[in-house]
Amino acid sequence: MSPEMQRAKLAKLCEIEGFEDENELFAVVIADSVCPAICCNPDNPECDYTEEKEPDSRNGWCEECQRPTMVAGLVLGGII
Ligand SMILES: [Zn+2]
Repeated sequence: MSPEMQRAKLAKLCEIEGFEDENELFAVVIADSVCPAICCNPDNPECDYTEEKEPDSRNGWCEECQRPTMVAGLVLGGII
């Protein structure tokens, strides 16, 4: 995934989940120990499927794509 796509997906994830910015999202994750994740399938960049995943998810399962392309917000933000 390109850095541009990574930033765009993080911004989209915040928008979909109703967070002001990524810092608000990170604060919630630290409190809840689950993290919103978004599909980052390079073959289907239009897929913005989101779901709660483990905070370190890099290849969570996307129900839409039927592929392991879900990436957690913390990973997108470069936190972990
Ligand atoms: Zn997908």
